[in-house]
Amino acid sequence: MVELSNRQEKIIEIVKHNGPITGEHIAERLNLTRATLRPDLAILTMAGFLDARPRVGYFYTGKTGSELLTEKIKKFQVSDYQSVPIVVDEGASVYDAISTMFLEDVGTLFIVDDRSCLIGVVSRKDLLRAAIGKQDLSTLPVHIIMTRMPNVTVCRKEDLLIDVANHLINKQIDGLPVVKDTANGMEVVGRITKTTITKVFVELIADNHI
Ligand code: ADP
Repeated sequence: MVELSNRQEKIIEIVKHNGPITGEHIAERLNLTRATLRPDLAILTMAGFLDARPRVGYFYTGKTGSELLTEKIKKFQVSDYQSVPIVVDEGASVYDAISTMFLEDVGTLFIVDDRSCLIGVVSRKDLLRAAIGKQDLSTLPVHIIMTRMPNVTVCRKEDLLIDVANHLINKQIDGLPVVKDTANGMEVVGRITKTTITKVFVELIADNHI
């Protein structure tokens, strides 16, 4: 949340009690010039605390810092946060899938057909389950053990990050593929994982976001 200066807090109080009020009049009450106040008014308007109407003046929006922050977070879109997806061909072996997971340092692999369309998902535990079985991992195809369509939960780049975060919680999964609809099916263009959401959480605090 934005840390407001003393002066900005005072401006909010003045507008709250006297709005609509012009910049000129706010400046008078603070014994400052209009020019000195301009950056403060710009910050307060951009952050959403105040609203400005030409020739009328400033209004108090009535929104608290946390309401404004919530509004902002609710607008975060998948496209701004997605990371690179790691895909594996359906014919690859479980052994290859395990190697890819280590090499690429991911926890979820997306399985695609020969037209690069999404057909399934494989998680760490899917691979562990296969590994404790009796099968030969180098000949067992990954598509046998994957969670397959239409049971794969997907998202699209214009979706809201908060909706994806809710899917991760409700379905108890670590990540979703970001897909693009094509004539052949769904092409995997990205991924959103629990790590993505954790990073957003940390950035929000680091950036003093509003
Ligand atoms: P892990 O199994 O390693 O804890 P997850 O919690 O992500 O990892 O996976 C749990 C199960 O859900 C696995 O069987 C996996 O195949 C499946 N799964 C993972 N991601 C998705 C998804 N996006 N849609 C549907 N099922 C998924």
